Amino acid sequence: MPLYEYYCDACGNNFDKICKAGTIDKDIACPKCGKHENRRKLSVFSFGTRNSSGDLKLSPASKGNCASCSSSNCSSCG
Ligand SMILES: [Zn+2]
Repeated sequence: MPLYEYYCDACGNNFDKICKAGTIDKDIACPKCGKHENRRKLSVFSFGTRNSSGDLKLSPASKGNCASCSSSNCSSCG
C-alpha cells in the first residue's frame, strides 16, 4: 500500500498515512485535530504545481533525491 503525505488545512499538521487503494482524502482524519480538511501532498517532483496557499515550503533537496531517477527513495541506482 502506498504511503502518502498529508497536510492538514485546519491546523497545519503534516503527517504520513498508509492508504488502501480507493481511499479518498476525505476519509483521512488529521491525527492532531481530528478534522478531515486534509490535502494529499503530491510526489516530490510535482511540488509547486498545486501550491495555492504558499504555506508548503518543502524542498526536494531535503528529501534525498536520487540524481539518476528523481526518486525520493531510490535504492536501486545509487
Ligand atoms: Zn489537523
